[in-house]
Amino acid sequence: MRKPYMRIPYTDVLASPTIIPQTATTISGAIAALQEFFEAPLAKGSPSTVVLSGAGISVSSGLADYRGPKGTYRVNKTYRPIYYNEFIQNHEARKRYWARSFLGWTTLAKAKPNAGHYAVKDLGDLGLVRNVITQNVDSFHLKAHPQLPTVELHGYLRSCVCTSCHEELPRDTFQNELARLNPAWAAFLQEILASGALDTENPDERRAKGLRTNPDGDVDLPDAPYTTFRYPACPRCLVAPPIVADGSRAKVEVDADGALKPTSTAGILKPAVIMFGENIRPPVKMAAEKTIEDAGSLLVLGTSLATYSAWRLAKRAKDRGIPIAIVNLGGVRGEDGFFADLDPSQRGDRGVRVELSTDELLPALVEQLRQSSGIRTTRKACDHSAEQHGASVFKDMMS
Ligand SMILES: [Zn+2]
Repeated sequence: MRKPYMRIPYTDVLASPTIIPQTATTISGAIAALQEFFEAPLAKGSPSTVVLSGAGISVSSGLADYRGPKGTYRVNKTYRPIYYNEFIQNHEARKRYWARSFLGWTTLAKAKPNAGHYAVKDLGDLGLVRNVITQNVDSFHLKAHPQLPTVELHGYLRSCVCTSCHEELPRDTFQNELARLNPAWAAFLQEILASGALDTENPDERRAKGLRTNPDGDVDLPDAPYTTFRYPACPRCLVAPPIVADGSRAKVEVDADGALKPTSTAGILKPAVIMFGENIRPPVKMAAEKTIEDAGSLLVLGTSLATYSAWRLAKRAKDRGIPIAIVNLGGVRGEDGFFADLDPSQRGDRGVRVELSTDELLPALVEQLRQSSGIRTTRKACDHSAEQHGASVFKDMMS
């Protein structure tokens, strides 16, 4: 049996969805169904929809979706996500991870939430969505709607966290340290940012713009291979190495510039995300579960629920008997079970399944809900269009 709430990749091919209700194959049909979904509970006075989102909602911000429409991996065959144990145990694996991450961070830090995230904010402002649970580590939900409580199931890339003392360090600060410790890489990053090589996922275009990768997808600088990449120690553990189980002090050793030595037994920083093979932190797991327990309905956005932790939350919603709506391009793990006992004549109040992009559908849905609720929007119209960045470097960071 799988260990509950450990993050593990799911590689089965997912079946195409059955659209529910049958009229929801078009944008207008989908909006009508979701309007039923949101407005039916209003009559009972208990509107408390929880959003559960995944990579699909961030695609139009330029972040690559992790899985394709049939649930298969879109990334190249040689791509292999790093596992938690490998990261913790292997200095070489960490060098490789941080070298890739160093190149991807600048573009990610500049990427912005898109119309889908802002539509979730609007649904919150309309009093229809009360909470968000996201599997995404890009912080876009928090940027788009800081007022709406959001559980980040798989953590966040905006910070690093020490694997010994659990102190967090802003990723920007860490990035500056990586640049200081790896000047050749810092110069190279400036070059490829200027060349636009990170704006494309096409390997040939990237090569033409000066970004060469080896068959494993790693960037190797001729004068500074990633095997020489350096990363800092946790500043706190460096000053005061933690006491280990046998009562002795752990070793936190750095070179003359402050880069962690492989002889260290503590003070290893990792991204504050849940890696594959890593368990979700208990307080986060409990917060997500509580959110589902308190929910009146569940709106699943842009996720195939391929990770067990997310699937289990949706399963719990189903077991509680609350209505579920799913907006996702491509199949969703176990979705037939979520809708198995639906009355075929229901129009969306008990369940919705549509296959449309969130950034296309949700703003139009918000507009319709505003009109039907008679709420006039005096808010200054914001341009929520995102800058388009395509950077497959993200795939390494997102997993
Ligand atoms: Zn530490």
